[in-house]
Amino acid sequence: MSARLLDGKEVARRMHAEFVPRLQAVAGRRGAPPGLAVVLLGDDPASRSYVTGKRQDCAKIGIRAFDHDLPADTPQDALLQLIAKLNADPEVDGVLVQLPLPRGIDEARVLLAIDPDKDVDGFHPVNVGRLMLDQPGFRPCTPNGIVQLLLRHQIATAGAHVVVVGRSHIVGKPLANLLLNKGSGGDATVTVCHSRTADLAAMTRQADILVAAMGRPRAITAPMVKPGAVVIDVGMNRIGQTAPGRAKLCGDVDFEPVSQVASAITPVPGGVGPMTRAMLLHNTILSAERRLGLA
Ligand code: NDP
Repeated sequence: MSARLLDGKEVARRMHAEFVPRLQAVAGRRGAPPGLAVVLLGDDPASRSYVTGKRQDCAKIGIRAFDHDLPADTPQDALLQLIAKLNADPEVDGVLVQLPLPRGIDEARVLLAIDPDKDVDGFHPVNVGRLMLDQPGFRPCTPNGIVQLLLRHQIATAGAHVVVVGRSHIVGKPLANLLLNKGSGGDATVTVCHSRTADLAAMTRQADILVAAMGRPRAITAPMVKPGAVVIDVGMNRIGQTAPGRAKLCGDVDFEPVSQVASAITPVPGGVGPMTRAMLLHNTILSAERRLGLA
């Protein structure tokens, strides 16, 4: 079997086209497009590259990006003051603080400082609670992007057994909650695995849809996959160097052998990554729409 490729780039491109009328409606009502404040502390190359991508996406579709690049030794109080200013700024619809934060800064405290109604990353405890309760809020971009990718490839989650490998706050747990919620893109039976799971392969082999979010290069091998399963590879592991400072990206799934067993599979890069970025744009537009009563 040779698996169908679930192309996230193509779906993201289609979503960008769908954003155009929404952006026009916001700009028409307010006289200005939605605005996203992106705060980056320090110079971690991976964080810098994520932030650059987000800012480029904003520029491409016409969202205003407000850049706040701060030194790694910025005191926590100064960061909290900046967040308070952005929360109060009517031109800012979304506030994103790129994680991880430098040592010495209390991440939980920083996330708590962001106005939940501008929390376009969906990491604020209020939005985590809204997700659990299936109430309107901001859904985290990677899990929401995965659900969109499945929906737009007509892969049914209702009644499917989805095995998620990884229980982080940004991918595994929120994805499990989204899939458990009732309705479109949900209604799945969900198993969540982690590093203490006994006999991981016995679990993954039961999956109709297998999601790997482990941060372990090529950890999911062909014998761990049920023939015909859908495989979603969230992993973005930087291995080797293709040029100074530039590493090669590798997923959590051993792509070639697994694509001989699976019915559908996401590539890395070009699968979940572009969907994550598209959902950030969606959340930023949604925030502006809500503020203007358009949503
Ligand atoms: P974390 O390191 O926060 O979590 C990894 C999870 O995988 C943990 O729950 C851990 O278990 C589990 N795990 C690790 N090793 C094993 C193992 N051998 N067997 C079973 N479970 C294991 O990572 P993230 O969730 O933040 O990210 C996961 C991956 O996804 C990374 O490669 C990251 O770069 C990528 N990523 C990609 C995004 C995208 O847009 N494509 C966005 C976000 C992340 P335990 O809890 O027990 O430690």
